[in-house]
Amino acid sequence: MTDATKLRELLRVKPGSRLKLADYDPDATHGWDKAAAKADSGKTEERLADLQDKLWAGAKSSVLVVLQGIDTSGKDGTVKHVMTSFNPQGVNVTSFKVPSTEEAAHDFLWRIHKRTPGKGEIAIFNRSHYEQVLVVRVHSLEPRSMWSKHYEQINDFEELLTASGMKIVKFFLHISKDEQRDRFQERYDNPNKRWKFSTGDIAEREHWDEYMAAYQDALSRTSTAAAPWYVIPANHNWMRNLAVASILAEAIGELKPAYPPEPDLPKNLVIK
Ligand code: AMP
Ligand code: MG
Repeated sequence: MTDATKLRELLRVKPGSRLKLADYDPDATHGWDKAAAKADSGKTEERLADLQDKLWAGAKSSVLVVLQGIDTSGKDGTVKHVMTSFNPQGVNVTSFKVPSTEEAAHDFLWRIHKRTPGKGEIAIFNRSHYEQVLVVRVHSLEPRSMWSKHYEQINDFEELLTASGMKIVKFFLHISKDEQRDRFQERYDNPNKRWKFSTGDIAEREHWDEYMAAYQDALSRTSTAAAPWYVIPANHNWMRNLAVASILAEAIGELKPAYPPEPDLPKNLVIK
């Protein structure tokens, strides 16, 4: 089995490199199987819980988790899984939808910046500012002259955030086109999941290749040393959960979160 440090290295999009998604197998398990992954998850969850407790108490830095991926790639499931490790106090989740009238009247980072984490906090973005070089590009919601500038604008924005003490970790949940078909079918067939399905999803699926091209460009052009992308093999939910949780734990660990210095108290105090 590939250990956490090695896995992180393998899945990281090297800054400045030209990524080809075909080089990443969405079925990859890197030597893990379901039983081993589930057994390891408990330990990783404990580590994440401990790190978040210290991050919140110390309030020195913050963490931003960006989740992107095609429909059914498992963004909602990842949020659910990662959240099991965290105390809801100090964590917030934002799901970015089609911009409201007010949001659309501003620059594309306006609604994003407002949801970034303050010191001590973890923010999870379910979709993000990256939609502006994904759905916007695929459906020509802006002219190329406009969306093509967003890569640099995003890099500058993320540099501003990291310079203020924020750790940014970006996950692309990578599934295959066949897996998406099966997941849509399951959504349609399962009454508990049907609410998530619309016929518009089938129309979006027709744009699969354009989305993959847009993702390749986005991941290649915005994976930086300070805010790297990770391509998560996501055909198996257990592998996705393992990879995301362990990369996140490593990344937060680098911030060395710690409780604040102990207050000056009298010795041997017995509270009556
Ligand atoms: P869901 O994540 O399934 O709830 O869907 C949210 C929808 O909002 C997706 O179809 C996204 O493509 C869309 N969306 C998110 N951000 C933007 C944006 N900046 N511009 C246009 N559509 C967006
Ligand atoms: Mg959807």
